[in-house]
Amino acid sequence: ATPTALLVGTGRGAQLGILIKGPEVLESTRRVDTVVLDKTGTVTTGRMSLLEVHVASGTTEAEVLRFAGAVEHSSEHPIAKAIADGARERIGELPAAEEFRNSEGLGVTAVVEGRAVIAGRAAFLADWSVTIDENLAQAKAAAEARGATAVFVAWDGVARAVLVVADTIKPTSAEAVAGLRALGLRPVLLTGDNAGAARTIADAAGITEVVAEVLPEEKVAVVKRLQAEGRVVAMIGDGVNDAAALAQADLGLSMGTGTDAAIEAGDLTLVRGDLRAAVDAIRLSRRTLGTIK
Ligand code: ADP
Ligand code: MG
Repeated sequence: ATPTALLVGTGRGAQLGILIKGPEVLESTRRVDTVVLDKTGTVTTGRMSLLEVHVASGTTEAEVLRFAGAVEHSSEHPIAKAIADGARERIGELPAAEEFRNSEGLGVTAVVEGRAVIAGRAAFLADWSVTIDENLAQAKAAAEARGATAVFVAWDGVARAVLVVADTIKPTSAEAVAGLRALGLRPVLLTGDNAGAARTIADAAGITEVVAEVLPEEKVAVVKRLQAEGRVVAMIGDGVNDAAALAQADLGLSMGTGTDAAIEAGDLTLVRGDLRAAVDAIRLSRRTLGTIK
């Protein structure tokens, strides 16, 4: 490939809302046959809202929102924003949280008014030996069957509530996935979220292959497995939890609307966070390199 032709390609990329780290990136873009897409914030808007609060006996909705809202207030995760905003809307100002800790892809913990509070997925509660009663387990199952995400809230070793949050697909995602397919690429949805929520979004986007309930460190393993099968993998993501997979992929595409960690790990940035730019990038690289001997 001649440097001149490649640089023309990168200039055109800027017009299309694609930032390319170096001209050599286009070379790997051309060979890609599989596109792994992160769900939250990539295929979906990432703007979640708090839809339901299911409380266990012995506590109240206001108490749960007070503690959960305070803990999630310190997290950047879209789920956390939904919970903190939803709590503030319902009960007003939230107390301060101390000793906040984020466990990527699992949940958060903090001390609020002297009480150690946990918010996160069931596997995270299991790490803390928290018990979950039948009613809450049912609320979780019902939420997930509808494609929503259930977040448990716990303190003193007992799950106190299930908060139901949901996200919506970006209006451009289905068109982008159709565009990827038209280029002969195989789309795969990859998410830490539950299988029901993943399936709902995958169906709406037109993606058949889904890998759900994947821990952040396992996202890299999924990319490696596809590569071991002989696939040339592009990964598209926005989160801190996507950074390692973006680096591992043959081509990492980060959402310009995403975290700095993802943008640094990617080879290429979709400036407007519109997945259709990924289709443009691949088409552009094929066209640019197609003209080069
Ligand atoms: P995705 O791969 O879809 O971007 P993540 O890997 O960030 O999702 O998160 C996976 C799961 O971990 C979430 O669906 C949620 O159950 C749980 N989780 C992550 N962060 C939080 C948080 N701040 N509060 C509650 N639950 C969380
Ligand atoms: Mg994400």
